[in-house]
Amino acid sequence: RTKGHQRGSHTIFTREMGIEIRERARLMQHLHKAFDADRLFLAYQPQVDLNSHRLIGFEALLRWRTDEGLMIPPNDFIPLAEHSGLIISLGAWVLRTACHTMVQLQQAGLAPERMGVNVSVIQFRQPDFIKIVETALRDTGLQAHHLELEITESVTMAGAELFEESLSKFKQMGVQVAIDDFGTGFSSLSYLDKLPVDRLKIDRAFVNQIDTPEGPRIAELITQLGKKLGLLLIAEGIETEHHWQVLRDMGCHEGQGFLIAKPMIEADLADWIRNWNKQHISGINI
Ligand code: C2E
Ligand code: MG
Ligand code: MG
Ligand code: MG
Repeated sequence: RTKGHQRGSHTIFTREMGIEIRERARLMQHLHKAFDADRLFLAYQPQVDLNSHRLIGFEALLRWRTDEGLMIPPNDFIPLAEHSGLIISLGAWVLRTACHTMVQLQQAGLAPERMGVNVSVIQFRQPDFIKIVETALRDTGLQAHHLELEITESVTMAGAELFEESLSKFKQMGVQVAIDDFGTGFSSLSYLDKLPVDRLKIDRAFVNQIDTPEGPRIAELITQLGKKLGLLLIAEGIETEHHWQVLRDMGCHEGQGFLIAKPMIEADLADWIRNWNKQHISGINI
């Protein structure tokens, strides 16, 4: 009886795996085509100073709209792109495009201090990753200190020496580095203390938590840790004025989230920036 049951569940298991593999292969084909056919684009989410309301940056976020108009979230297709290696060329394109947008904003006199770009561990492990970043900067004419690379906490643990070496090079170049989704991985504190990074991004989960009985405890711990380490802090996922106030009062410097703006297409940036600056200059606070 036990044997039969095992065989049964084994059959189901393989069948489901088969479907999953076929489904992934199919999605992968679509993703390759989408990249070739310019169906991938970037959306930009503003980052602001929580005290002064000043616009300080944008984070570039990858978007995929299928021919049928369906939006596929990056969390669904980036793992796929990482698995197939497409992330290398895709990531280089993201870098170049985000840098180019920043230069366009500079030429219009609208640019904030920095453009944040998410970088996958697979990209970071590429031996020529620094060259790819240098090329993106050179080709677009963006100065290094206007670029910030967002690297998830898990990257920092994978291949420590290589990581430290690359980070030092970026530091020398003037490229800024933020640790993304901070608090969701398992960084060792002594290691974190050594890393030449500029900023910790408090994960959206801990901002959400402010509304629960847990309250802002974790966000507060991360803020205090960051300050002790001499790092700047930015919170993601600010959705309410209450979030904004709580985070600002605990000493978190910057934030982004739907309260300020959802990620927007490049064509909407100029109007949004002018509007934000106008509201800020005339003293209207949100
Ligand atoms: P992330 O880097 O932590 O980006 C923040 C995510 O939170 C974004 O989701 C953003 O749209 C969302 N978000 C921002 N504010 C709010 C808010 O107030 N409420 C809610 N509910 N969500 C908010 P998105 O765009 O779906 O991206 C998901 C993840 O995909 C990113 O997380 C990042 O890890 C990855 N990703 C996006 N673009 C790229 C890329 O170009 N390269 C790589 N390697 N990863 C990317
Ligand atoms: Mg990010
Ligand atoms: Mg994040
Ligand atoms: Mg996050």
